[in-house]
Amino acid sequence: DAKRRGRNTWQTFTPELARQQHDRVQVESQLRRALDNEEFRLVYQPLVNLADGTVRSAEALIRWRNPALGEMRPDHFINHAETTGDIVRIGAWVIQVACRQMAAWRDAGYPLERVAVNVSYRQFLTEDLVQIITEALAEHDLPGHMLELEFTERVLIEDAPDTLTTFEALRALGVVLTIDDFGEGYSALNYLRRLPIHGLKLAQGFLRGVPGNASDAAICQAVAGIAQALGLEVVAEGVESSVQRDFLLGLGIHRGQGFLFSQALEADAFGAFLRQSNAASNA
Ligand code: C2E
Ligand code: MG
Ligand code: MG
Ligand code: MG
Repeated sequence: DAKRRGRNTWQTFTPELARQQHDRVQVESQLRRALDNEEFRLVYQPLVNLADGTVRSAEALIRWRNPALGEMRPDHFINHAETTGDIVRIGAWVIQVACRQMAAWRDAGYPLERVAVNVSYRQFLTEDLVQIITEALAEHDLPGHMLELEFTERVLIEDAPDTLTTFEALRALGVVLTIDDFGEGYSALNYLRRLPIHGLKLAQGFLRGVPGNASDAAICQAVAGIAQALGLEVVAEGVESSVQRDFLLGLGIHRGQGFLFSQALEADAFGAFLRQSNAASNA
């Protein structure tokens, strides 16, 4: 009967819940020490000009290698870091390291225009984000336009009193502001008019259905249309096939990243990739 089934269900779910709880406690306790123990690093995924294959920029993505927990992707720890608040210090570290690395590539003569970093809504809500960015740019003598910040729609939804002020201060530095995973959450179209945004990154889920799924293709097309109407640049993520690349070019989307071109690379490998891809296209 229903009651017994209910109880059985409860019993089957208990070990799973217990495991998740254990996981969370483990991750959160290791997270606290991870920065001091230098367990994080950044990898760089090339951002490709879809028409000619050239690369001038990258997205920095965090990786965490912990002696007890092994190598972890951000999806396994970013939300824990947001819960505990550790993301604020981790996020400042990401900005610092990305700027230092950009300066090193610039000084070595690499044809690099920009690196994008992901900013958590928790980090966005702190008071000193603008100051951290100002100092990181100044320390490495970088112009603001070499740094791109990717925010998720969560930042827009929270709509804190200082959101507009913060966006304007960042824009005044020349920093490029992009909404990440656009369409995945609540797409806040009214904020697109109000905030000084440069571009949108189309959430990968929609491209995954291309070319087979007509509604996914229609959403990609609609996002491209909104962006064009508002003068925003669109970047596609998760480009895995040349059919998808051609579809995007047909929509007027000229920049993308994805496994068709390259996964995220260690810093040295990205430097080599940058040199190679541009040497090939200049030849
Ligand atoms: P995101 O910012 O949307 O980054 C794109 C994710 O898609 C990356 O996963 C990337 O490796 C993956 N990807 C790239 N091309 C393809 C493809 O062709 N196919 C598929 N299936 N996947 C592709 P990753 O590195 O695991 O990062 C996951 C998410 O974690 C990021 O999504 C971002 O939201 C967050 N994240 C990463 N680094 C940071 C960081 O430094 N700070 C914060 N706050 N969040 C970060
Ligand atoms: Mg991103
Ligand atoms: Mg994204
Ligand atoms: Mg994502």
